Amino acid sequence: IVRGPEFRYELSNPLNQRLAGDREMVGKTVQEVMPELEAAGTVALLRQVFETGEPYVAREYPVTMPATLDRPAQPIFMNGVLQPLRSGTGSVEGVMVFAYDVTDLVLSRDRVKDAEERTRLAMDAASIGTFDFDPQTGSVRCDERYRALFGLAGDVSVTADMLMEAISPEDQTRVQAAVTSALHPSSGGVFDIAYRIRGAAGGIERWSHMRGRTYFDDSQKPVRFVGTGIDITAQRRALDQLRFLAEVSTVLAESLDHRTTLHQVAQLAVPEVADACVVELITPQGLTERVAIAALDLEKKELLEAIRRRYPSALKEAFGVARVIETGQARFTPEIGEEMLKRMARDEGHLEMLRKLGLRSTILLPLVSRRRVIGVLSLIRMNSWARYTEDELEFVEEVARRAAVAIENAQLYEQAIEAVGIRDQFLSIASHELKTPLTSLTLQISTLSRLVATDKLSTTPKDKLAHRLAIMSKQADRLASLMEELLDVSRMSRSELVLNVRQTDLVALVGEALAAMAEEADRRGVTFGFDGTGKIEGLWDPDRLNQVVTNLLENALKYGPAGKPVIVKTHLVNDRAILRIQDEGPGIALEDRKRIFEQFERAASPNLGGLGLGLWIARKIVEAHGGEIYVEEGMGAGSCFVVALPLHHPTKNDRI
Ligand code: ADP
Repeated sequence: IVRGPEFRYELSNPLNQRLAGDREMVGKTVQEVMPELEAAGTVALLRQVFETGEPYVAREYPVTMPATLDRPAQPIFMNGVLQPLRSGTGSVEGVMVFAYDVTDLVLSRDRVKDAEERTRLAMDAASIGTFDFDPQTGSVRCDERYRALFGLAGDVSVTADMLMEAISPEDQTRVQAAVTSALHPSSGGVFDIAYRIRGAAGGIERWSHMRGRTYFDDSQKPVRFVGTGIDITAQRRALDQLRFLAEVSTVLAESLDHRTTLHQVAQLAVPEVADACVVELITPQGLTERVAIAALDLEKKELLEAIRRRYPSALKEAFGVARVIETGQARFTPEIGEEMLKRMARDEGHLEMLRKLGLRSTILLPLVSRRRVIGVLSLIRMNSWARYTEDELEFVEEVARRAAVAIENAQLYEQAIEAVGIRDQFLSIASHELKTPLTSLTLQISTLSRLVATDKLSTTPKDKLAHRLAIMSKQADRLASLMEELLDVSRMSRSELVLNVRQTDLVALVGEALAAMAEEADRRGVTFGFDGTGKIEGLWDPDRLNQVVTNLLENALKYGPAGKPVIVKTHLVNDRAILRIQDEGPGIALEDRKRIFEQFERAASPNLGGLGLGLWIARKIVEAHGGEIYVEEGMGAGSCFVVALPLHHPTKNDRI
């Protein structure tokens, strides 16, 4: 009790004494004993009660218990009342303070609040929603996060039916069974299930994991079913993706036929990562060729095919396949709405078909092999609840990467097989080619040997012997030239063609080659016409160029019919020396005109011997000079081979 406007202590019990740090109080003013109370605002409260005569009720009023020898200063909380003390006349004379320590109460309540807050934070962090179902009334109480799992707004009152409806139809029966079981005492009340939810508005499908427990009363009646729910879409997807990648990798490793492989990848992709999957590869002609297609059901597949038939390339254009090929970048269209369909459609019929297809979203992935786009993998989602999300992109890109590696392996394997086939074919051609002159040589040698053995050599007419020797010499030349071709091939394949370039006159060079072959042409009744005057000089390797010219002339004689002319022209066009050799033979079909310049490639009957190497060697030599060789387009009868050479080729000096 304090009295007077100066608040002089009249009474202080032991607890109050302790609060004052055991200071002497009675007879002294509050100011004197505890000056700190002025700053704490306590004196102001006393003054207020003293002046107004109104009692003041304090709740959980913080007070600092001063430090003593055996304990530090301590915050405590007090509940109490400051009661005015009135005189007989009713005027306020002092203040009576009753207070009790409620620190333990305050602290324990704070601890509970703290624990609740931590639980809430943990649930927030883990995005755990909670539900509380009353099996007797059927009412469900659930928090905002649990509602969110089902796509329900925060303010609607939730019923069990609403929750069930939001669950994906495929999972409803399973969930119903799990709930029924959890509500039955024999299950121990345990509820633990993962299922898909499309949400109240039928949005994107997501996976949830629900855990709960049912409480039963003494008569085994379920009275409360409570639990938690959590979105596990990301984990689920990660697992699915891992599994899918493992499957894809197995399939990709299984076959070395790239068409089979791609077909299987497309089949695997549906329904795992797409509702429809189309794989297109780029052909050597630069066109796209569809090699695989898979769809969720036959109807959609047929529809896709029908759209392609009726509106070829419309889908490809709409999706931007060309752009993917051009940029090598994936193209992601998360949402295809009605507006977009309208833009895609060529006409009403097309729009109708697109609507029926139910396109939702697409991802187009480039199949990249050795930095080159070799095809496009299109993934299409067609169900209203399924859409591609940004986080799936990385995963499907990985799928595309693996597919591309597999295609490359398969193609390399196919090429290797083809190369082995060509090599075998070449070996049989080569041995046949080498055998022909060898047989003829052996025959001549054995005839000559017989003449020697029977002593008839001296009596054999000289011209007959000379004829035999000429045959032998020709066959030996043929053998030598075949060997030379083979050696050239092996040298050029190992990039060892060395050019000895010097100032060379093409006109003179062609003239000499024609002269060297005049006799052979004569025998075949072929006349060479040469249209070349003056000089065309350049920095070339004359021996190698001679090889090119001779080769082309030999072919003209070999493939051109007897008695028809072969016209040879040399001229200069835009600083390039041009050589044309035109025969009146069977010509070369359009589709063979590129191929015949490849190794071992032939377009003639096997009866006309040859290794299929001459034009390849010629091309290598011409290209080493920075020039080109080709069969001229659209000429009349016969073939016209053209060689175009820059006068000098600074970048390629002496090696290819
Ligand atoms: P080879 O003559 O040994 O077969 P080449 O590389 O010289 O090899 O020629 C490749 C193919 O090109 C020949 O097999 C033939 O089919 C075709 N070819 C070359 N020159 C002519 C030509 N003047 N007329 C018709 N076909 C030709």
